[in-house]
Amino acid sequence: MSRESKVYQATFKETLMKWMPEAEEAIKKVPFFVRKRVKARVEKEAKEAGKPAVSLADVKATQARYLTSMSSEIKGYQIETCFGPSGCPNRAIISDQLIAQIETDVEKEDLLGFLKQNVKGDLKFHHEFRITLADCPNACSQPQIKDIGIIGACAPVVTDEPCSMCEACVEVCKEDAIFLDSEKESPVIDSDLCLKCGKCMPVCPTGSLIEGQKGYRVQLGGKLGRHPQLARELPGVYNEEQVRQIVKDCISFYKEHSRHGKRFAQILQPEDFNTIAKRYPGI
Ligand code: SF4
Ligand code: SF4
Ligand code: SF4
Repeated sequence: MSRESKVYQATFKETLMKWMPEAEEAIKKVPFFVRKRVKARVEKEAKEAGKPAVSLADVKATQARYLTSMSSEIKGYQIETCFGPSGCPNRAIISDQLIAQIETDVEKEDLLGFLKQNVKGDLKFHHEFRITLADCPNACSQPQIKDIGIIGACAPVVTDEPCSMCEACVEVCKEDAIFLDSEKESPVIDSDLCLKCGKCMPVCPTGSLIEGQKGYRVQLGGKLGRHPQLARELPGVYNEEQVRQIVKDCISFYKEHSRHGKRFAQILQPEDFNTIAKRYPGI
């Protein structure tokens, strides 16, 4: 796993380090797209200096150093995860291996070299290609506004095991995607409403609902900035190999078509999205 993902996950664990209230307020004012990196750097430098808590002076000193050397901090891409690997109970899938594999694939693409060739002037963080992984549909790492957003998915399937009509699955489903057919005494899943969060199977005492499709949903082309747009979701659920291939295809498309720092979301036209969607119907 690269330095970036380690930093991101470490940031969550390291929030145990004490922050003075003024330092907390100051870090909230750092632009959101670099806040995680600056916060991790502040904590690291404060720890290395043997300080028991982060002060306002620590934040200001690190922030000044960081922002003045911004272009040397840029590596061409950002890969983040949600806090799932730190023990979140909501994970629809265990994804630890996938994000490391994606990072290995992306590092080979030399996106920094590509950006240096195609962007006039200093590189900025907003030029970087962004990928994020959220382990469940709660989407804490904001896949909807990234170039590629990957979301853990676990869909239920109805079996022939007799249903006791206990309603546990209905109660746990936040999407109202399950109803009980009283004539057939069986659950029915509305696949249009189901977000594949994986919450209904563990509460079923009879085995009438078990895990079906398990993998990842993938969204493409989200961004913030002057013309924000939400990512669009590909039609399927994908296994790890397919997700890696989608990422590689999207980066190839980006390198082929992006000039002057245009983001993936700006160049991915509806027909391009549809081409990718046809190529990847899902598992
Ligand atoms: S996206 Fe889901 S699994 Fe990840 S931290 Fe949020 S709630 Fe937990
Ligand atoms: S997987 Fe989640 S959204 Fe889908 S039916 Fe089960 S509880 Fe509802
Ligand atoms: S499917 Fe399982 S959880 Fe849902 S009502 Fe039937 S027995 Fe209960």
